[in-house]
Amino acid sequence: MDIQFLGTGAGQPSKARNVSSLALKLLDEINEVWLFDCGEGTQNRILETTIRPRKVSKIFITHLHGDHIFGLPGFLSSRAFQANEEQTDLEIYGPQGIKSFVLTSLRVSGSRLPYRIHFHEFDQDSLGKILETDKFTVYAEELDHTIFCVGYRVMQKDLEGTLDAEKLKAAGVPFGPLFGKIKNGQDVVLEDGTEIKAADYISAPRPGKIITILGDTRKTNASVRLAVNADVLVHESTYGKGDETIARNHGHSTNMQAAQVALEAGAKRLLLNHISARFLSKDISKLKKDAASVFENVHVVKDLEEVEI
Ligand SMILES: [Zn+2]
Repeated sequence: MDIQFLGTGAGQPSKARNVSSLALKLLDEINEVWLFDCGEGTQNRILETTIRPRKVSKIFITHLHGDHIFGLPGFLSSRAFQANEEQTDLEIYGPQGIKSFVLTSLRVSGSRLPYRIHFHEFDQDSLGKILETDKFTVYAEELDHTIFCVGYRVMQKDLEGTLDAEKLKAAGVPFGPLFGKIKNGQDVVLEDGTEIKAADYISAPRPGKIITILGDTRKTNASVRLAVNADVLVHESTYGKGDETIARNHGHSTNMQAAQVALEAGAKRLLLNHISARFLSKDISKLKKDAASVFENVHVVKDLEEVEI
C-alpha cells in the first residue's frame, strides 16, 4: 500500500507543485487505485507515474473548491481513451454538487463516456460510514473550512493470520487437504492420533492500516477523531508557524496545528501537503523543523513522491 502525491500545492499550480490530488495505491490489496481530490492537471501528473487510469476505481472529493475538482472532466474523459483496455465503472464520493459539476461539464463539452460513473453524494446529515467492502471501511466527517469540506478515514480490515507450513510439516502433517482444514481454523487428528490445534499453526491476525486524508481545514476536533491511531495522517499546511490568525481567517491550518492534530490523535506519521507557493525550499525545511518540535515523525511531501504505508 502506497500513497503517491500528484499535487501538493495550495490554491493554484506552481512549477514545482500542482494543485491537490493524491493516489492511494491498493494494488497488492485489491488491485485498485483510489484518488483523493482531482485538481486541474491531475491527468498530466498521472502520466509521470505508473498508475493506469483504468485502475482508478474510486475518487473521493473533499470539497468543491476548484483546486480540488477542476481536473475531473479531463481525467474522466481521458480514462475513456485507453485502447484495448476493458472499460471499468467508477465511483465518485463527494459533497452534494459534485454530480452536477461532473455531468454538466461532460454534457456541455459533448463528452460521452464508455463506462458508468456511480455518484455517492453526501451532506452534513449523511456522513459517517460512506463505504464498506470486504477489505476496507471508509468514514467521512465534516471539517472546518470556508465551504462544506470533509476528511476521510480509510480503515483496512484486519488481515487474516498466515499458516506456518514449515511448522506443520515438522509436526508430521502431510501436505494436502489437511492444510486447508487447519488454515480454516479446524483442529485435526492425524492417523497416528496426534492432535493438531489449528491455532498453534496460524499467526495472529494483523491489524489493518488506518489512513487519514483530510481536505482543507482550520484546526478542529473532527480532524483528531478521523486521525485516531492512524498509520498516516495527510494534513494540509497552507500556512507556517505564527500565521495562525490568517490561517483561521482563510479556513486553513498551519504546520504547527497539523502537528498538534497528529499528536492529539496518536497518529504514527504526519505528511504535510497543500503547501503555498510562497514557501521556498528553506521555508520548507523550517516548516518541517517547526512542526517536528510538536510531532517528530513529520514530512513535507513533494509532487510525485511515493510513500509506503
Ligand atoms: Zn479549499
